[in-house]
Amino acid sequence: MTDHNQFDTRLIHQPQFRDKHTGSVNVPLHYSSTFHQESIDEFGPFDYSRSGNPTRQALEAAIAELENGAQGFAFASGMAAISSAFMLLEAGDHVLVSKDVYGGTFRIITQVLTQFNIDHTFIDMTDLDETARNVRPNTKVIYVETPSNPCLNITDIEGVAKVAKANGCLTFVDNTFMTPLLQKPLDLGADLVLHSATKFLSGHSDVVAGLAVTKNEEIGKRLGFVQNSFGSILGVQDCWLLLRGMKTLSVRLKQSSESARDIAQFLHYHPAIEEVYYPGFSFHAGYPIHRRQATGAGAVLSFRLPSKDCARVFVEHMKIPVFAVSLGAVESILSYPATMSHSAMPLAEREKRGITDGLLRLSVGLEHVEDLLDDIKQALEAVEKHVPAVHA
Ligand SMILES: *Cc1c(COP(=O)(O)O)cnc(C)c1O
Repeated sequence: MTDHNQFDTRLIHQPQFRDKHTGSVNVPLHYSSTFHQESIDEFGPFDYSRSGNPTRQALEAAIAELENGAQGFAFASGMAAISSAFMLLEAGDHVLVSKDVYGGTFRIITQVLTQFNIDHTFIDMTDLDETARNVRPNTKVIYVETPSNPCLNITDIEGVAKVAKANGCLTFVDNTFMTPLLQKPLDLGADLVLHSATKFLSGHSDVVAGLAVTKNEEIGKRLGFVQNSFGSILGVQDCWLLLRGMKTLSVRLKQSSESARDIAQFLHYHPAIEEVYYPGFSFHAGYPIHRRQATGAGAVLSFRLPSKDCARVFVEHMKIPVFAVSLGAVESILSYPATMSHSAMPLAEREKRGITDGLLRLSVGLEHVEDLLDDIKQALEAVEKHVPAVHA
């Protein structure tokens, strides 16, 4: 822990950022794969950069501190972090998973873990009774994503962690959408927090990275072993870029969240929009739980147009956001989950999760909110013109 209490301050000032030898205010890029040792039986703190590197160590210490954890780990991508975490499991184990997890997580669970005889059940984790009912004797992990992607369903982290503890399982939480600025799963009883740091933590659409944090010494030891054994570590330059991005997390995410709230409100009242998924609405089913466990609704929302045709016209008329996969950047990112983030999911599975052909996801960036609203207004006018049936 640093002696600064406020999160915004802790983002900027951490002891490991400062270089002891030169006083440089940013941690140096330690481009060194190996480290000189003084003698045959006396080794320094680093030996080989897969096992540990000073630049990566600064990042790992930073995320551990921000999540109120004890040990942090940086990986080559969010999926590398998530996959490495699943390597804590053994053949014959079983995982309980929120049914609307990120598409890549769905893919590794259904197509890779199954190769190693690790079984899974997808459940509606917003329902704690359903969660408890589906725990099996061999269930080792309950895997939570909240708010979920792309329908922003809310799972009670504390409630799930209690079910997990009562059954001797671990709770993993993907905290990508909230970041430790808005939600701290370890404080709510989770055992391991996972991040696609590609998103809000780095924030500039320039780095692919993953992070994991725990405060449990045993899990930390085992995950460190996996990180070194499997070797999907984050490179030095990307560690540095991520550290730089994280310093502005608070101002970026607060501003984007404010704009997201205005946009969600606007879409909610627009006649062409069938539904808006946004955890900041007081009438959102998960609102009371989200308010209890998080300090903001975040900058991602999804909304449903009546058809694929409508979605196509909307996308073709939007001028400001990039139309792309990913989220959490300075530029707004509009995406079409059915063929983008969730293309790994078969149609029937997608529809069960509400990822229908009219669904669009918007990650709100730092453009002026009036410009974004004007852009959305004109795109919706085009939708109404092209597809008059939306008024029916
Ligand atoms: C993007 C994302 C991932 C995967 O992370 P990568 O950095 O793309 O490997 C995992 N979970 C969520 C919620 C994501 O948005």
